[in-house]
Amino acid sequence: MSRPYDWLIVGAGFTGAVVAERLARGLNQRVLLIDRRDHVGGNAHDRRDDAGRLIHPYGPHVFHTNSARIFDYLSRFTAWRPYEHRVQAMIDGQAVPLPFNLQSLRLLFPPATAARLSRRLIAAFGADARPTIHDLRSAADDADLRFVADYVFDKVFAAYSAKQWGVAVDDLDPSVLGRVPVVIGQDDRYFTDRFQAMPRDGYAALFARMLDHPNIHVSLNTPMSQVQPKAWTRMVYCGPLDDYFESAAGALPYRSVRFEHRAVDVKDGLPVGTVNHPQAPGFTRITDFRHLTGERGPTTATVIEYPTAHRPGENEPYYPVLSEASHALADQYRAMARSLEGQVWFAGRLADFRYYNMDQAVGRALSLVDKALAPAISRMAA
Ligand SMILES: Cc1cc2nc3c(=O)[nH]c(=O)nc-3n(C[C@H](O)[C@H](O)[C@H](O)COP(=O)(O)OP(=O)(O)OC[C@H]3O[C@@H](n4cnc5c(N)ncnc54)[C@H](O)[C@@H]3O)c2cc1C
Repeated sequence: MSRPYDWLIVGAGFTGAVVAERLARGLNQRVLLIDRRDHVGGNAHDRRDDAGRLIHPYGPHVFHTNSARIFDYLSRFTAWRPYEHRVQAMIDGQAVPLPFNLQSLRLLFPPATAARLSRRLIAAFGADARPTIHDLRSAADDADLRFVADYVFDKVFAAYSAKQWGVAVDDLDPSVLGRVPVVIGQDDRYFTDRFQAMPRDGYAALFARMLDHPNIHVSLNTPMSQVQPKAWTRMVYCGPLDDYFESAAGALPYRSVRFEHRAVDVKDGLPVGTVNHPQAPGFTRITDFRHLTGERGPTTATVIEYPTAHRPGENEPYYPVLSEASHALADQYRAMARSLEGQVWFAGRLADFRYYNMDQAVGRALSLVDKALAPAISRMAA
C-alpha cells in the first residue's frame, strides 16, 4: 500500500484550499484535498455559462478585506480588478441606495421631511456615522428618530431578514442585522474595507494557482465517507460541524438558497451590482454579474436568490442560522470537536458554524496553520 498522506483536508473552499496550500508549500506536507462537489472553490467557485459569461453559480461573491496580510497572501495567486460593490433596495417601487443613507431618505420622502429627518440623524449620531439598525432603534428618543428607525427596520430589514432566514426577525442573533449599517451621510458603497477588488481572472483561476503544487492531490466528487482512514494521518475538516458527529446532539440549523440564473439584454440589466427586494414575494435579491466581472457584451448574466429551508442531501447548507439556541447546540459540538484535537481540527464557515466572509475564511485558515498545525508538525518531528 502507498504511504498515507500527512493530511486529509475535507472541503476545498477557501478554508480547506488555504490550509492545503500552506501545509504543502509552506511546510512540505503531503496533502489529500477532497470535496464532495465536482469543483474546488466551495461557494466562491465561478465558471463560464453557455455563452461564455463569467458567473458565480452559488451567488455573488465580492471580495473585500481590511487585512493587508490576507490581501497580500491572495495576491500570490491572482491579479485584481478594482471593484466597489453598490447595492440598491427597492422600497415601495423606488430604488434607493443600500446601506440606507441620507440619499435614500431624499428619494423616499418629500424634500422638507427628508431634510428634517437628516438633521435629526446627524444631530443624534454625527455626520457620516454608521450606526447599526439596533443603535438606531435604541436611540429613538424623539418622534422623528423613532419614525426613521421603525421605517428602516420594517421596510429594509424585517421582511428581508424573515425571508432570508425563515424565522421571525426577533429570534435572530443581533449580529445578523448588525452586518449592514445605516449611513448618516452620502457614502453609497456597500463595503468600506481598505481592499475591495475581484480576482482578475476569476476565483476558479485563483484556486487553480493556489493548489498547483506537487504535494497537493485534489480528489473531487469525493465525500469524506469514501476516504479510507488508512489513507491519511491527520485531518482538517471544513464540512458542517454537526455532520461530522452524525448529528448526535441534534441537527444544527442552516439556510439554503435556490439560485435562478438568467441571461438578459444589457438594457434590462441592473444599474448597480445588486438590487435587494425586501418586499417581493419569495426572492431576496438580484445580481447583475457584469458589474462584478467587468465583462461587456450585448447580454448580461443575472442571478435571482430564493432562500429556502435546508434539506440535508437535497440542497447545500449555505448559511448557519445564528440564534441563542443554535449557539448553545454548536457549543456542544465544539466541545466534542476539541476532544479530537491533535488528530482532527475543525475550521471554516460550516465547521466553525460562523458567518465568515471569504477574507475571514482565509484568515481563519492562515492562523490555524500558524498556531495549531505547524506546532503539531514540529512536535511530531521532535
Ligand atoms: C450566497 C452567498 C454569497 C456570499 N457572498 C459573499 C461575498 O460577497 N463576499 C464574501 O467575502 N463572502 C461571501 N460569502 C461567504 C463565502 O462563501 C464564505 O466565506 C466562503 O465560501 C467560506 O469558505 P469555506 O471553505 O469555509 O466554506 P465553503 O465554501 O462552504 O466550502 C466547504 C466545502 O466543503 C465541502 N464539504 C462539506 N462536507 C463535505 C464532506 N463530508 N466531504 C467532502 N466535502 C465536503 C463542500 O462541498 C464545500 O465545497 C457568500 C456566501 C454565500 C452562501
